[in-house]
Amino acid sequence: MFNLVLFGPPGSGKGTQSANIIEKYKLVHISTGDILRNEVSQETPLGLEAKKYMDQGALVPDEVVIGMISSKLDENPEVNGFIFDGFPRTVAQADALDNLLDFRQNPINLVLSLKVSEEELKNRLISRGQVSGRSDDTEEVIVNRIKEYHAKTSPVADYYQSKQKLTEIKGEGSVEDIFRAMCSVIDTFI
Ligand code: ADP
Repeated sequence: MFNLVLFGPPGSGKGTQSANIIEKYKLVHISTGDILRNEVSQETPLGLEAKKYMDQGALVPDEVVIGMISSKLDENPEVNGFIFDGFPRTVAQADALDNLLDFRQNPINLVLSLKVSEEELKNRLISRGQVSGRSDDTEEVIVNRIKEYHAKTSPVADYYQSKQKLTEIKGEGSVEDIFRAMCSVIDTFI
């Protein structure tokens, strides 16, 4: 079993690279952003609650996302491994994930952290907003999402660094080159 966290700010390319990694390594993709957007579009009670935060670019409360992850792990008992995309986004989430995985005796093996300059991030998110139809891809909300990232999410990198699980990857350049750089690290684990 191989469990990977794909870490990085909004717009760093986690979604794009996840799709490539899943295909190559046959991992199960867990994207909290996708799960939440699905709940919003189905107008479930969880989705209606989450929407209030998402539309402002704020993080959804930890208990909500941790509960979602726990159910996802239970739904997939026999897998090669998971790729966590957009989760954990706070140190409390990282801690909760470690507890859930320790219980299953399959810890996080590797955290790949995508590094992209602030300027490039904003440009990517704004141009994605013109095609994605995502209600949180407007300039004002994007600024808030990046602020939330610095305040609450970037400490997650230190958390994994202190456990010696973090490897940084340059997230600028062609999608193929970035993917190759990620694979060369993953291949030392598989
Ligand atoms: P991006 O990849 O652009 O960062 P996501 O699709 O991962 O965006 O997330 C969109 C929104 O969903 C976030 O701004 C936040 O409101 C909510 N969200 C997603 N994952 C989490 C999480 N792990 N914890 C809290 N909120 C989350």
